[in-house]
Amino acid sequence: MAAPQFEVPKLTGYAETPAIKENATAHVKSFPANAAIQEGIGFPGELVEDWHDKAIAKMGDLLGKYRSLRVFMDACVHCGACTDKCHYFLGTADPKNMPVGRQELMRGVYRRHFTFAGKYFPSLVGAKDLTKELLDDWYKYYYQCSECRRCSVFCPYGIDTAEVTMAGREILDTVGYGQKYTNEIMGKLHKIGNNLGLPGPALQDTLEGMEEDMLDDTGVAVKMPLDVKGVEVLLVTPSADFFAEPHVESLMGYAKVFHAAGISWTLSTTASEAGNFGMFIGSYANMRRAALRIREAALELGVKRIVVGECGHAWRVAYSFWNTLTGVGHGGEDPFSIELQKQLDPRYPAPQHICEFTYDLIQQGKLKFDKSLNDHRVITFHDSCNVARGSRMGDMPGGQFVIPREIIKAVANNFHDMAEETIGEATFCCGGGGGLLTDDLMEVRVKGALPRMEAFNNVVQEQKVNFLALICAICKAQFTKVVPYYGFDMSMVGGVHQLVSTAIQLESEE
Ligand code: SF4
Ligand code: SF4
Repeated sequence: MAAPQFEVPKLTGYAETPAIKENATAHVKSFPANAAIQEGIGFPGELVEDWHDKAIAKMGDLLGKYRSLRVFMDACVHCGACTDKCHYFLGTADPKNMPVGRQELMRGVYRRHFTFAGKYFPSLVGAKDLTKELLDDWYKYYYQCSECRRCSVFCPYGIDTAEVTMAGREILDTVGYGQKYTNEIMGKLHKIGNNLGLPGPALQDTLEGMEEDMLDDTGVAVKMPLDVKGVEVLLVTPSADFFAEPHVESLMGYAKVFHAAGISWTLSTTASEAGNFGMFIGSYANMRRAALRIREAALELGVKRIVVGECGHAWRVAYSFWNTLTGVGHGGEDPFSIELQKQLDPRYPAPQHICEFTYDLIQQGKLKFDKSLNDHRVITFHDSCNVARGSRMGDMPGGQFVIPREIIKAVANNFHDMAEETIGEATFCCGGGGGLLTDDLMEVRVKGALPRMEAFNNVVQEQKVNFLALICAICKAQFTKVVPYYGFDMSMVGGVHQLVSTAIQLESEE
């Protein structure tokens, strides 16, 4: 790890609300996208000449389309309940990283152009013109929000800053001011099929390598099928699972679960990415284009079920949007959606999370584990924001909190939760979600991880925890990079299905 160019917060044992430091992260700006990246996903290549009028027009368009956005602009009473709830404010002390501060960047412009008082008495109501300086602030601070929704849990009016951030990014993209990291990845996904730009033959090689590793480790020929028609399950997983550590360990865990349960399955080169960064930039068109690859693969392969691997935002998109985007679940009304709805087996949720899938098999007694194989681990679990506050699992309230923990307890003997106010619905973001997982934002990533690191450090000190279990590809990538800044080893980070992989007992098919 190179020496940081910024001060890394010290762990004190408790989460403190910092004294405000104006513009503390005004110097942190992620790289904007170039023309080729922007145009590749349908936006202007550079800041358009009439950007001001276009931005206001787009804002009007979004206010008309999303009633929630207009309510969020009008409803805030500045009660202050959200001010200390954002991990980026707690880590950076910049007041524009307070949820209400982030909203105000847009609210001032809303008042100026979309309210009577703001049009005629702007200075009386805090109305603001959209200057280039303010547009730059939008760009900086809407890419210092991970859209985690934690603030919305504490707002008495349920104002969701994540939606404001999405709207801000959508307006920025519309005027040609997009972010390199997110938009470049969207382009790769459209062109090649996954965020990493991994072509089919490379994917095949990687999977064969994993089959060999599993054979060496277990003596059992666990398969990693690709593009196999007529099987029961299509597994759609984040592409990081194909090559990054610790992600690959979970992918091998899923494969072992399918093997042990005797359920036929396949991966797909067409749908080799569960992630969908279209949600991060509030772009319905890009989100739909990415999601349609999954429908195409499911129809082509004739599968009966679609299971989604460990990825927080992917699960949110799948759970909340796939039905209308693709017809996976009920909602889509075009002929392809209707065909897919007929094809999928109604006895199972569509889509289904890999944790729901494994948990069901555990409940039915179809998997055997030797829990002692995880005895070298003392485990805690981090609830990923998009699973915790953007979706659900199972058919019980709070299933998204219960199911991953029950899996861990089924495969390991040593589990301890972190402090209650930092988990479940109140979970703190890893600091790298929502399009922030780029090195040019390392300062806010490290500082934004502070509240989670405090809670983690407490269970490390008190319970001797040595494993942070995750169900999100972004959390895995973020924590492996960030925990060393706080004095922890990156090998402490891993997936829930990595734990499953360690303990599961396999029988050879011969
Ligand atoms: S959505 Fe999350 S990152 Fe964004 S302002 Fe709210 S708490 Fe902060
Ligand atoms: S908690 Fe809600 S109403 Fe109160 S300041 Fe924050 S956004 Fe406004």
